[in-house]
Amino acid sequence: MEKVLVSACLLGKRVRYDGGAKTLSSEILEKWQAEGRVVSVCPEVDAGLPTPRAPAEIIAGDGAGVLAGSAQIVDRCGENLTEAFLKGASLALQLCRRHGIKVAVLTEHSPSCGSTQIYDGSFSGTKRPGAGVTATLLRRHDVRVYGQHEIAEAQRVLEGL
Ligand code: SF4
Repeated sequence: MEKVLVSACLLGKRVRYDGGAKTLSSEILEKWQAEGRVVSVCPEVDAGLPTPRAPAEIIAGDGAGVLAGSAQIVDRCGENLTEAFLKGASLALQLCRRHGIKVAVLTEHSPSCGSTQIYDGSFSGTKRPGAGVTATLLRRHDVRVYGQHEIAEAQRVLEGL
């Protein structure tokens, strides 16, 4: 049975920067869990970052920029966390390879997991189109990445595999 990668915070794990979760209430997710399909990932915690931690945003770019070396990920205290976020993305890719994962449902707006929108780097709550570094790296390796609001689409793709 095909596995699916899901952001740990959507699964109720308290791994977000503020020490909380972002639990997704979804019959599809419950079904996947009952089927044993779900593989949990938190790229930031997996990379060794603490919880809670200062919020971080991508400065001057998006996940593609971070992978290209033209953008950086900095927390609100000004600490450059680019290397840790790249490590987290790489670990998530390894997890996908280990489990043969082709579909992921990741938390929207995160500098790691965001898949259609991220914060713009101003720490003002402003969003802009773009994807985080983990979502971008996984897509480059043929994993189809969806935000939590697109879980029905992810389910359709999973059924077609
Ligand atoms: Fe959730 Fe992803 Fe942020 Fe971890 S890195 S807290 S899984 S959005």
